[in-house]
Amino acid sequence: MRLRRLRKSPRIREVFADTEIRTNKLIMPMFVDENLSKPEEIRNMPDIYRFPLRKLVDKAKEYDGLGVKSILLFGVPKHKDSTGSASYDKDGIVQRAVREVKKETDLAVFTDLCLCEYTDHGHCGVIKGRKIDNDSTIEIYAKIAKSYAEAGADGVAPSGMMDGQVKGIRKELDSSGFEETLIMAYSAKFSSSMYAPFREAVFSTPSFGDRRTYQMGYSGIREAIREMELDVEEGADAIMVKPALFYLDIIREARNSFLLPIAAYNVSAEYSMIRSAAKNGIIDLDSVVDESLNAIFRAGADIVISYFTEYLMKRRKS
Ligand SMILES: [Zn+2]
Repeated sequence: MRLRRLRKSPRIREVFADTEIRTNKLIMPMFVDENLSKPEEIRNMPDIYRFPLRKLVDKAKEYDGLGVKSILLFGVPKHKDSTGSASYDKDGIVQRAVREVKKETDLAVFTDLCLCEYTDHGHCGVIKGRKIDNDSTIEIYAKIAKSYAEAGADGVAPSGMMDGQVKGIRKELDSSGFEETLIMAYSAKFSSSMYAPFREAVFSTPSFGDRRTYQMGYSGIREAIREMELDVEEGADAIMVKPALFYLDIIREARNSFLLPIAAYNVSAEYSMIRSAAKNGIIDLDSVVDESLNAIFRAGADIVISYFTEYLMKRRKS
């Protein structure tokens, strides 16, 4: 047997490739910022911007034209308070962005659902004493979900890692007539140092403590499976592993354990590290983008949320 027969030319390698980057399955994260009048590039994330509303819609139209299928929206509000009340304002920045993008494009629109961008303390939930209170936070998550659904979001992506959040959100959506709004749950979200550029992007660094009482420690595999199992039971339509590249084993475990779609979030520092290494001439950008995204699909992800989506779609188009 000569395995090299399957590698003999670029075309043969392509035809027999085991996995590939499925561009239809990429979701581009986008940031809409109520405080801006012009786009602002995020430090350490070249080519990734926070947009004022109108510019975000223009960019979404550009993505639609490039063949991007889906976006995941994050908002930066003008007003922050201790309970993050701007998050469920029906004229909040994300709600307005969803309405406009759905009106002007064919993109599938998901909204990140959390409080950290909206609270003045930067935590993902409501504070009682010095603790993040699980159950009162879920009541607010439910309100946010309803307001995103009303705005026309195809799905919500709860990322706060509160216990029972999927159940609470599903219940609210169903009872207010949004049975069709889907939930893509950040199920196995690890407390990771790889979110640093993102936190700077949305100004969500906690003012005290850290997120380790709700996000998972990076040493846990069984805990990750339990988290995913619960979200499946509570009615998630898709489950997510975040980050992706240091957690490929978790993605594989998810693939082997569950039948529903698995999403993986190729996070901000994964993007920044590759961009930075390429800029410094250490690696070749195109080939590392391909290799790293392929690895996430190979691990078993059906959907990959990646800041490289725009870059990749532009490259394929040119
Ligand atoms: Zn959060």
